[in-house]
Amino acid sequence: MTANTNKAGTESIVHCEDYAAPDHNVESIHLTFDLVPNQTTVTARMIVIPKDDRKSDDFVLYRDDVSMTYLKIGGKDSLPGQYAFVADKLIIHDISEPTEIEIQTRINPRTNLQLSGLYMSRNNYITQCEAEGFRRIMYFPDRPDVLAKYRVVIHAPKDYKALLSNGNLMEQGELLDGRNYAIWDDPFPKPSYLFALVAGNFVAQEETIKLANGKEALLQIWTEPSNQGKTDFAMQSLIKAIRWDEERFGLNLDLDRFMIVATDDFNMGAMENKGLNIFNSKCVLADSRIATDEDFARIESVIAHEYFHNWTGDRVTCRDWFQLSLKEGLTVFREQEFAADMLGTPSARAVKRIQDVRYLRTNQFPEDAGPMAHPIRPESYRQIDNFYTTTVYEKGAEVVRMYQTLFGKEGFRRGLLEYINRFDGTAATCSDFLTAMEESNGEDLSQFELWYSQAGTPRVSVSSKWDENEKTLTLTLHQSNRSFPGRAAPKPLLIPVSIGILGDDGKDIELQLQGEDNPDGTTRTLLFDQQEQTWVFENINSRPILSIGRGYSAPVIFDIEYTKDQLAFLARNDSDLFNRAEAFDRLTLLMIDQYILDLQKKGPNQGRDHIPVSEAYLFTFEDILNDESLSPAYRAELLKFPDENYIAEHRILIEPALVREVSDQIRKKIGTRLRATLEDKVQKMATPGAYRPNPIDAGKRALKHVCLGYLAFADNPKAIQQIRALYKTANNLTDQLAALKISVEASLPIAQELLNMAEIEWQREPLLMNKWLTLHSRLRHSREQRTVVEKIHALTLHGSYQPKNPNCIYSLLYAFFRSGGPEFHRPDGMGYQLWVNSVLSTDQFNPQVAARLARVLENWRRYEPSLSRMMYKALRFVNSHRELSPDVREIIENALYEPV
Ligand SMILES: [Zn+2]
Repeated sequence: MTANTNKAGTESIVHCEDYAAPDHNVESIHLTFDLVPNQTTVTARMIVIPKDDRKSDDFVLYRDDVSMTYLKIGGKDSLPGQYAFVADKLIIHDISEPTEIEIQTRINPRTNLQLSGLYMSRNNYITQCEAEGFRRIMYFPDRPDVLAKYRVVIHAPKDYKALLSNGNLMEQGELLDGRNYAIWDDPFPKPSYLFALVAGNFVAQEETIKLANGKEALLQIWTEPSNQGKTDFAMQSLIKAIRWDEERFGLNLDLDRFMIVATDDFNMGAMENKGLNIFNSKCVLADSRIATDEDFARIESVIAHEYFHNWTGDRVTCRDWFQLSLKEGLTVFREQEFAADMLGTPSARAVKRIQDVRYLRTNQFPEDAGPMAHPIRPESYRQIDNFYTTTVYEKGAEVVRMYQTLFGKEGFRRGLLEYINRFDGTAATCSDFLTAMEESNGEDLSQFELWYSQAGTPRVSVSSKWDENEKTLTLTLHQSNRSFPGRAAPKPLLIPVSIGILGDDGKDIELQLQGEDNPDGTTRTLLFDQQEQTWVFENINSRPILSIGRGYSAPVIFDIEYTKDQLAFLARNDSDLFNRAEAFDRLTLLMIDQYILDLQKKGPNQGRDHIPVSEAYLFTFEDILNDESLSPAYRAELLKFPDENYIAEHRILIEPALVREVSDQIRKKIGTRLRATLEDKVQKMATPGAYRPNPIDAGKRALKHVCLGYLAFADNPKAIQQIRALYKTANNLTDQLAALKISVEASLPIAQELLNMAEIEWQREPLLMNKWLTLHSRLRHSREQRTVVEKIHALTLHGSYQPKNPNCIYSLLYAFFRSGGPEFHRPDGMGYQLWVNSVLSTDQFNPQVAARLARVLENWRRYEPSLSRMMYKALRFVNSHRELSPDVREIIENALYEPV
């Protein structure tokens, strides 16, 4: 018997409020894979248990692009009438007692280019099942609240040395027909999205460690043989992550064996399958030749993130996909805390926090203000794959962070452990997490729950009044939240606002609120839970300056009027290193706004580069650059010129060409005016000797590169020579890549020469060639040659560009579309034409990746009218295609029709 299935044509919207528990559980599932590239056979035997409180005897299984060869119910061949295919489901009737169901499917991993389900990467087999990939392997109640115990048998050709699945290896060897086999057993019940299988020619680096509970565990990192020797750093990161979770939360690794596999063909960064994490190779492989300081830091974070999921995601999973932030927001937060602890010094921790917040503002704020706005717990979706968003992840992490801000580290730990104890081995909800937190800390968090249901970035406007006679400071906060048509007006949120007050000597004032007997500390967290609220601080003897939202205590926008002098003062003095950076950031954005105003007053050809950058700004800049009490990493983070997208995000109307012109001019002026100091720092920040990716050396390199960047924009001949030498003599990729980036962005005459050299040197290493492709997304207009759009298009035919590989698509096309520059946002629309072609062609084989490309134009309404009209047309054109995947359709229709 063979049933042919197609991807369901009907696109239905799934609503959170429609959740219904499944009527049947699956106690266990035994899977047997006979791996053949074009025709893999999968046999599943599952024990299905009807629930006592079920609404129906129908057992519902999902399917997507699989063919069934047979179905047995209770050990007998099924009869017509016992089951039915309805859209994307197989329904087996009359399962009213425990029943064994056996199904066999045929699938084609070779042609699976969506990289969801079981697919091939070169000749290796890989799976990716989150969110709904398992149904592309086997008919199954593929939903996260159905947890089963898995036993997996793999049959594969003889040359497949590594045959891996979740859990513990029970047996392996050779079959009578000469093929290899392996049997795996996972002792922990899990949802199908955490299932994994890997088969191929892989080699492992391994290490046995002793866990805090005295048990031993085998750690393995598997790669293709050509990548052997590039996993030391990942192994050390994994061990650090295991230790950290033991120490901070008392959580141990619960398996005898923990495996990581690296593959080049992967839609996401990495996946936390129980005991068998599968990684995009760019998040695992590292040495001084192929990874930058940033890559090293990212690898450490991603390895930790996936490992931490073992408890927050795997042991306790999500009831349904609306609860995605329950595992993702929480695990991003754990990863951020881990990374900060690994950095140690307050200054390095501040750098990490500044970077995380900048990422949130550049990526999540526009999402929250645009047509894709959704709460961290979304209420509906068409394609869950579209909701792996910065809102669910990064804003979700900020919401989790607020628990820690409210209850302290101990209180947070208590709440987290209570949550794990209560829900271990089950599928939970965001409300369950909140309840565990509030009960273990004895607080009522019912108002805090609004963070899970209200979308939009809240604005907190801050006003304060100092009474010189009474020596009081009255602080008033007012919050407003985005409202959505057809929905109830937003309610005030509970916002923890951490503040400090600086006196005119730049020192923190001890804080004493009206009604308190004594001052207590210099930073206070105010619980702001009304629309408007007032606090009065006493004993404020000199004119105070407020430091608001210290450490970025809540994911909001603080609207506060500072003069430039006040910002410069805070940037020099604030004891809170996050807010010190924040002050300088505000000062920079004010300076840029002023520069744009001055520029707009000039005519088009009227000495447009004769506008000065304010001297006061340059002084503050130079003071920070020279402040030896601040680490180089911190100074680099403050002083690097803001990304064009970051500047654009702060403007009401986005004008890419204007932002570019202004950015380039200001950088040039800083480079010219502060030349001596910048040159001095380039020298002092040298890192002689062997390359070490530690935070201290990395910080020095970062500051050196920031300084060289400004000098390059000023066409400083000495700097240009230094950049060339930096590329040629570097003993590490960080320096090499920085030299390339600077020369491309500043359009230095050496740019093409360096790009050519890199192309030859890097050609054998896909990770490096992807970086080489990305460099082209930063190319600037030039008069005589082809347009950048044409160059990007030509690169899609380059030998190192694999058109079906997500990393290649992200490195070249996505990077170019996301660069935000006038080379993409061209007045003739050529950039948007390339976008249209790329979205449509990618959608034919990989809808998830196509949907990510599609999102680039969703904030079209914010651009200057001539561009926004063309973007609208491009969106309409894509939408007119009948054959769009539901993934892309959802993005495009949201962009066109959702109110903003
Ligand atoms: Zn995750």
